[in-house]
Amino acid sequence: MVHRIIEDCRQELYAHRPTVGNVGETHASMMSYSSHELNSGLIRAIREMTPAEVIGELTVSGLKGRGGAGFPTGVKWNLAAKAEGDVKYIICNADEGEPGTFKDRIILGKYADLVFEGMTLAGYAVGATEGIVYLRYEYTHVRPHLEAALAARRQANLLGRNILGKEGFSFDIRIHMGAGAYVCGEETALIESLEGRRGQPRNRPPYPVEKGLHGRPTVVNNVETLATASCIVARGAKWFTSIGTERSKGFKLFSVSGDCARPGVYELPWGMTVQQLLELVDGAGAKAVQVGGYTGELVPAGEFGRVMGYEDLGIGGSIIVYGQGRDMLEVAENYLEFFVEESCGQCTGCRIGNAKLLDGVHRLQKGTCSNRYLNDLIGLSHSIKTTSKCGLGQASPDIFIAINEHFKEEIMARPVLAA
Ligand code: NAD
Ligand code: SF4
Repeated sequence: MVHRIIEDCRQELYAHRPTVGNVGETHASMMSYSSHELNSGLIRAIREMTPAEVIGELTVSGLKGRGGAGFPTGVKWNLAAKAEGDVKYIICNADEGEPGTFKDRIILGKYADLVFEGMTLAGYAVGATEGIVYLRYEYTHVRPHLEAALAARRQANLLGRNILGKEGFSFDIRIHMGAGAYVCGEETALIESLEGRRGQPRNRPPYPVEKGLHGRPTVVNNVETLATASCIVARGAKWFTSIGTERSKGFKLFSVSGDCARPGVYELPWGMTVQQLLELVDGAGAKAVQVGGYTGELVPAGEFGRVMGYEDLGIGGSIIVYGQGRDMLEVAENYLEFFVEESCGQCTGCRIGNAKLLDGVHRLQKGTCSNRYLNDLIGLSHSIKTTSKCGLGQASPDIFIAINEHFKEEIMARPVLAA
């Protein structure tokens, strides 16, 4: 099985170029991408492929967006390529704010060139001239490293006018700092923020591929998606499809934290079970695992045979392990405090409903929540999900529903007033 701890999540290590893979995992992963391969995807694309062929390679590879939603990258690039527009943009979504997720920080620190290469490839494929990295405010310390890598790329004519001698292909990348709002990780809120407005999700459609930044066709891709696209164009779609499962091709980076002995960022092929992952990170005896961050899914111990992949648990890459000692009401309290704080306030259900759920958790903690009120809150949870505009509100009540479904005995262990 291919795996490697890339880095303990408590450490920082920056390098301008990918390190050479040297632990016998030859060419099986992003981490085995060697320095001599760097930019070979871009060189191949510019010298040997048309933009349509680049998109075709991505489409055949089956790469799906690594931000969490899993939209096919080739399809997205194709839609942007076909969209009408005198100006087009490529945005790298580096607003990694999902609690428990820190894989993009590691990629930006150690493999920034792969990300910039991927953005340039996307620019070539769709006909864009400008790329923007929307960098999470809390990652400000990574910026000097990224600026240095960009300057080196300009020097080497990997950015700028007529890239690598390709007449008519000009593309450059700039960095834009986020302001610390979680919701700006949602692509349309991110675009609003880039345009100088308050970061609030827009209604979709139109999707950004058609009408994005300044109303122009825009590709918004996650950091990991762009880095992976570079590896695919360099090595070919066949290499990528030989890894993973039927519907989940390739490898994926997972940020692992919580009650386990070996937290960190792991690169794994799709298709492992939750149980296998727990063995890898030394999380034996866990009572639940949150897959996909706070907007993901709580998987209880009885379901650890479930598979990580789009067939079952298609996730953004965050794994939080909850050991036997965890109080699941405290867990829910923590999630809901976060969502109440981060809601942009546009949708009534998200703005007010999450505060009601948090109050419900407090009542459960104090033993002052009747069964009838608890049932009302579960009903409210479903209303919040269906009336929310963006992923934050749509997923925020899941923890409340999940603890009621899987940990009813535990959360009702406190004395509860009769209905
Ligand atoms: P989505 O499925 O609506 O869209 C995913 C992507 O596909 C977007 O870029 C969207 O523009 C594009 N898309 C979808 N349908 C399209 C169409 N018909 N035409 C053109 N483009 C189309 O998901 P979303 O609301 O953008 O994101 C939600 C996901 O983000 C959740 O699954 C969640 O797990 C994840 N998430 C990730 C983080 C993180 O830090 N990485 C944080 C919060 C949420
Ligand atoms: Fe804002 Fe919440 Fe509505 Fe999303 S669901 S747009 S965060 S109020």
